[in-house]
Amino acid sequence: MSQPSHAHDDNCIFCKIAAGKIPSRKVYEDEDIFVFDDINPWAPVHFLMIPKTHIPSMAQVGPELALDKGCRPYPEGGFRIVTNTGAEGGQEVHHLHIHVMGGPRPWARG
Ligand code: 5GP
Ligand code: ZN
Repeated sequence: MSQPSHAHDDNCIFCKIAAGKIPSRKVYEDEDIFVFDDINPWAPVHFLMIPKTHIPSMAQVGPELALDKGCRPYPEGGFRIVTNTGAEGGQEVHHLHIHVMGGPRPWARG
């Protein structure tokens, strides 16, 4: 039986990076995740954490609540997920939380 939890897409650049077929500056790797520096950083530190499994987007992970709240479906719609971490990361409330934002553009912020 194939393992859907280890899905792989031969045309996906991040699948190739996770498999070591395209070089990257690796930060961390374990059984499930691969972490590497972004090639075009937006900030002094900018790395990407990816599941080794080819999951196209957060829309595939659990979109029901976002859709219930009025976000439109992926890929035309979608939503933005932000986790602020520490003062310089914009975190004000120190209990881990994920912002989920969506709906038609333009937005007030972000
Ligand atoms: P997205 O725009 O999909 O949220 O983010 C994709 C990110 O992947 C971008 O910030 C881009 O710079 C980075 N990226 C795209 N191709 C490569 C690559 O070949 N190597 C590395 N290290 N980063 C990449
Ligand atoms: Zn992939």
